[in-house]
Amino acid sequence: MAKGVYTRTEKVRANMRIVNKLPSRLRIIMSEEQKEKISKSKKGKFPTPETRLKLSIAKLGNTNNPRLPRSLETRKKISNSLKGEKAPNWKDGISPLNKIIRGSLEHKIWRESVFKRDNYACIWCGTKSGNGKAVILNADHVKPFAHYPELRFAIDNGRTLCISCHKKTDSYAGKGKKEDTTSMEEKLEALNKLNKEAIKII
Ligand SMILES: [Zn+2]
Repeated sequence: MAKGVYTRTEKVRANMRIVNKLPSRLRIIMSEEQKEKISKSKKGKFPTPETRLKLSIAKLGNTNNPRLPRSLETRKKISNSLKGEKAPNWKDGISPLNKIIRGSLEHKIWRESVFKRDNYACIWCGTKSGNGKAVILNADHVKPFAHYPELRFAIDNGRTLCISCHKKTDSYAGKGKKEDTTSMEEKLEALNKLNKEAIKII
């Protein structure tokens, strides 16, 4: 490829990196024209980050065959037919996506920040660990986690509660929770945002 004549797009370079990693016996010797033709024909076939996220979501919960992700349409149909308590894995109203968010680094940081602000004590009854007593504290969302995705990591929306006080809240363990009406687009947006934030932190 003559310098200054062709502009190698990132896609072409990515292709080249893949080809260069192949053992030499498997490398097909192609002319520059052939390579260019192939890379043009493959243009736009690389999944965008959004497509990859959609695929990851589509794969969630597909335990039948993880190698064959279901299409988004199929996932939507299945999710509509299995909404709420009809879902076989329904537990405390926590969807697989919410499980991921709750297990995320950002959620851990949010939780720790809420505890710290509240001096590691239940804000309702004041109980805390110390003097040989261990108290398990929960970081609770004032505005429920399921219905306010934009406030999931807002420190102001968190409060430290001991388990017995937490049980008195309306949202404890999905109590009184309506079915998750978050659309796939909103979930994608949340996941995208989460990824961006996680990258910032790392
Ligand atoms: Zn308490």
